[in-house]
Parts: sequence; structure tokens; C-alpha cells
Amino acid sequence: MSHSADNSVPTVEPREQKINLLGLSASRLEEFFIELGEKRFRATQVMKWIHQAGVDDFAQMSNVAKPLREKLAAIAEIRAPEVVERHDSVDGTCKWIIRVEGGSCIETVYIPERDRGTLCVSSQVGCSLDCSFCATGKQGFNRDLTAAEIIGQVWIAAKHFGQFDSKATRRVTNVVMMGMGEPLMNYRNVVDAMSLMLADNGYGLSKRRVTLSTAGVVPMIEKLGDEIDVSLAISLHAPNDELRNELVPINRKYPLAQLIDASRRYLTKMPDIHRKITVEYTLIDQVNDRREHAEQLAALLVDLPCKINLIPFNPFDAVDYRKVSNNSLHRFRDILQQAGYIVTVRTTRGDDIAAACGQLAGSVNDKTRRSERHRAKRAAREEIIASG
Ligand code: SF4
Repeated sequence: MSHSADNSVPTVEPREQKINLLGLSASRLEEFFIELGEKRFRATQVMKWIHQAGVDDFAQMSNVAKPLREKLAAIAEIRAPEVVERHDSVDGTCKWIIRVEGGSCIETVYIPERDRGTLCVSSQVGCSLDCSFCATGKQGFNRDLTAAEIIGQVWIAAKHFGQFDSKATRRVTNVVMMGMGEPLMNYRNVVDAMSLMLADNGYGLSKRRVTLSTAGVVPMIEKLGDEIDVSLAISLHAPNDELRNELVPINRKYPLAQLIDASRRYLTKMPDIHRKITVEYTLIDQVNDRREHAEQLAALLVDLPCKINLIPFNPFDAVDYRKVSNNSLHRFRDILQQAGYIVTVRTTRGDDIAAACGQLAGSVNDKTRRSERHRAKRAAREEIIASG
């Protein structure tokens, strides 16, 4: 980065609340500098310092003129959320507990594989959609994460692995918006954060390596396809409306036919005709793992270019669901494969640090009091069992 001197910087009074530049997309950062009376290229310089060099101190931005650095320090900041704990699994999976403004905690998980490293990023503190098998849903909903708190999770992981100073032990090569929360319920902030993941002056990830996973907020799928080009995953978990209404309650508002249609339309908006939707299906013992469920799923997806990811359910305290048996899992996979689908089975990772899919719970300050209701229901159930 070259040094460029500029002494014509007007004096700016410090603002009460500093603006956090970490979460500003390229266009928002440009607007910020133009409002300051600066040239557009300052946005590119600062963006590279933040997202490619991992710098959070304006004083280190050596190609930005000193008066501008001082002005920025007075009115702005680069602030990632605070890491409270990090857990490292024996299999290399890494989980961060991150405290966000207001005191609640979210979780971010890194899953290393031979040729890539996937970061599972959270979009909300808790979740309002209350899927019946999901640990996050049981925590209730507190608030949307800001764009800075979303991209901050990538920044934290990249910094931890030394990605910013090319001494990387590992790298974040893929991001899945599949942590806590429903990303399409926090549309603006998620899209801004994903634009930084994709940006050449940001993390430069390919559009195939950034995936948004939704439980099916249909109108927002339409909007997403008009605005950004990322891979789309849909969390289906059931092959018919009756069962899906029970497992994924947003299905009552946007039933399966609408979700499949919206997904198909999303693909038609993508310039690359070979793209596929990823269909996620969590297999729960005796609930959605029967032969007829697999056959219904095969029929349901017949016109949707897709690949299917089967996820064995990870049991946790607040629910009575059990993990699928190996027999049912293999039968389910075989039926789909025989119908011509590409099927992968997600192997459970980070079991020893509770980092597996569906186990992310953080510690949410639950505004909906849902976790209390769940605890009360569970206590009542146990009392009935104990009294015979
Ligand atoms: S599965 Fe996803 S959408 Fe459903 S409650 Fe959990 S976090 Fe929310």
C-alpha cells in the first residue's frame, strides 16, 4: 500500500457514538468518506486495511494521511465483538463464544477439512422461528446482529488463524450463514456482511463459497436473488406440509410449494446455469426418517436442481427427539440416490465442544421468555413421568 499525503483535512468534532467501520459495505464506506469530504479511494484503502490486513487501529494505516487518520480516530472505530471463550476440539473444529452489545453471547464455529475451512456464522442473537428440533430456537429471540457483528465473526477467525499476515495455519475458505438465527430475518445486515465476504477488497471469497441457509422466508429469497449472488441452502427437514408445519413452523406461513418455487426462481437469477440449491434435511428417529418420507422428498424435489445434505439430529436436553439409527439413515440416503440425487451425509464434528449442527445455543437474553416456557414444560413432563 502506497503512502499518500493529504493535508487539506477539515477539523471534525468528536461524535458521541463512534461509527464502527467494520460492518460498512464498500458502497457504505464510500458514502462515509464522501460525506467527510474525502475521495472515494479512501474507502478502498481503509477497507483493505480492515479486511485484508486485520488492522483495527487507524494509526497503523500508513498510506492514509496522518490528519485523516486522526480525524477517523475521533469519529470512527473498527471494533469486532468480544471473544469470551474459544474451545478447540480434538478433530480441529474450533468454537468461539462471542459477547455482543447488550451482553448476550453468540457462537461461531470453524470446521477444517482437508482442502478447505468452513466458518459457520451466526446472524441473530437467538431465533424467533422456533423450529422444534433446534437448540437456538429454544433460547428465544433477543435481537438481530449488526453487520459489524456478523462480519466480525469472520474477522475474528481470520485473525486467530493468522490469515491477515500470510502466516496462516488455517484459512477461512468458505462461509455458511448457518449459525444462530434466521439470516433472512436480518436481511440488510446479512447482505452487507456477505458483500464484504465476496468483495475483492474484502475477503475475496467466491460466490460458490458463501452460502446462506434459510428455513424458508420466501419473500426475502426473491429479494436476495435480485441483490447478491451467493449459494442458497434451504432447511427443509420434512417432505410434506403437515410434518413441516410441526418441525419448521414458518411453513404455516410459507408452505413447501412456495419455498420450492422461490428456490427455483432464485437459481434462474444466477448467471451460472450449473448452480444447485442445497437441501438440508435433519433426520430425527421415527419422526421424518421413514421410507415414505424419503420417497415423498424425492418426488417433491424432482424439478429443483439440488443436492441433498442429510444431517443426523444431535440430541440436546430441551427436546425428546432421538438421533436417527444407522439403518434408517442408510435407507433414506439410498432411496434418494436411487432416485438420482446427489446426497451427502454430514458427519458430526466438534462433538466434544458442542459445536455440532443444531447445538449452537450461546447464552441469549431471551426477550420472548421461550426458554422459560420450555423449562416449565419439561419439568411438568418429568413430574408426570416420575409420578408413574
Ligand atoms: S433451525 Fe434455524 S431458523 Fe429454525 S429455530 Fe433454529 S436457528 Fe432458527
